[in-house]
Amino acid sequence: MSVPRSEALFERAQQVIPGGVNSPVRAFRAVGGTPRFIASAQGCFLTDADGNQYIDYVGSWGPMILGHAHPEIVRAVQHATERGTSFGAPTELEVQLAEQICALVPTVEKVRLVNSGTEATMSALRVARGFTGRSMVIKFDGCYHGHADSFLVEAGSGVATLGIPGTPGIPEEFAGKTLSLPYNDLDAVEQALERHAGQVAAIICEPVTGNMGVIVPKWQYLAELIALAEAHGALVIFDEVMTGFRLAQGGAQELFELRPHLTCLGKIVGGGLPLGAFGGRRDIMSFVAPEGPVYQAGTLSGNPLAVTAGLTTLRILSESPPYDQLEETTRGLCQGLREAAESAGIPVSIARCGSMFTIFFNASEPRDFETVKQSDTTRFAGFFERMLDKGVYLAPSQFEACFVSTAHSPNVIRKTIDAASEAFREIADQPT
Ligand code: PLP
Repeated sequence: MSVPRSEALFERAQQVIPGGVNSPVRAFRAVGGTPRFIASAQGCFLTDADGNQYIDYVGSWGPMILGHAHPEIVRAVQHATERGTSFGAPTELEVQLAEQICALVPTVEKVRLVNSGTEATMSALRVARGFTGRSMVIKFDGCYHGHADSFLVEAGSGVATLGIPGTPGIPEEFAGKTLSLPYNDLDAVEQALERHAGQVAAIICEPVTGNMGVIVPKWQYLAELIALAEAHGALVIFDEVMTGFRLAQGGAQELFELRPHLTCLGKIVGGGLPLGAFGGRRDIMSFVAPEGPVYQAGTLSGNPLAVTAGLTTLRILSESPPYDQLEETTRGLCQGLREAAESAGIPVSIARCGSMFTIFFNASEPRDFETVKQSDTTRFAGFFERMLDKGVYLAPSQFEACFVSTAHSPNVIRKTIDAASEAFREIADQPT
């Protein structure tokens, strides 16, 4: 596929933007090749600057559950724009969105709107620290919670290893407040809580991971995590930036019937515009300024355009919940992909939860970051490149989730499986 305009844009971009992109994974470093510069999108299709069309399984990394440029959302945002784009003062729209979130997400009694998932997790942790009077946080290897200092600690393989900075720019003293433990391993959590008794403010987790690829937690893992945290006086923060409104209206906590103390939201809650949120138990959220002493603020927080896009999206999702349809579509897609890989003799495991899935080039399904890392990333890159050539845009890294939207029709799914059958056969002929 020829992409001269994307190539030229990437060249220009690299002169003025670090790595040519405004978020690292977009640069295609893990898979090689030229990142496609997108000119427009509609439904489940992306069109690049050269006019090539792709079936999109990235969906802006999760927000586009209803497909791109959904007419109702576009109309609502257009109307909102005409009434003014930012006021720096409260609006009725914000009250409506907060009410809607509290109604849909089981454990959210009060919520604060922010501008991104990163802001949501960063602020939730600050509240947890303020509420408990403790400073340490436990996260899990391979989970991503945005780019705030506390969460970018290198995914150490040891159990309860004290964090070291995963990136220059984070002081070691600060990173030392973060413990990164293996996902799906309760013993590791129990030992860490005992070793650091009275110091852990919060345990933060992706209740179904997407950021090391899809990993569904072991049966009862999350319930026991919450019980362990409570026994040690720590809070549990569910980072539902990816899973919120995607796995069910009330996110993973509704699906698994669990009660985290705080919840972070992003992506779908903003309907494709920049918006995040954190919320939870009333007494904990009452610590947030100006009701309480924990400061958190934002010039554009509750922005009327983002709130309108979010409100419209949540309204559509609750008026006609698409979750059964998404489940069926994605199950069919994954089944087709599995059969295509099998018939080409390529060992893969396809992990899925609802409309999130990952094709791991790994014969057995990973259960944590260690096993995720055993996947054949070279083969993944070959597969990704061939799929892109055939007009299918997958997440450009083995360690990510792909997303299906309500706009992915049976015909599009069939085309994807056909493209994958060819791509698997082509890489089967390549040396590993
Ligand atoms: N938490 C999770 C689970 C995410 O997947 C992401 C982003 O991918 C974030 C937090 C950060 O959100 P944002 O990129 O909006 O800052």
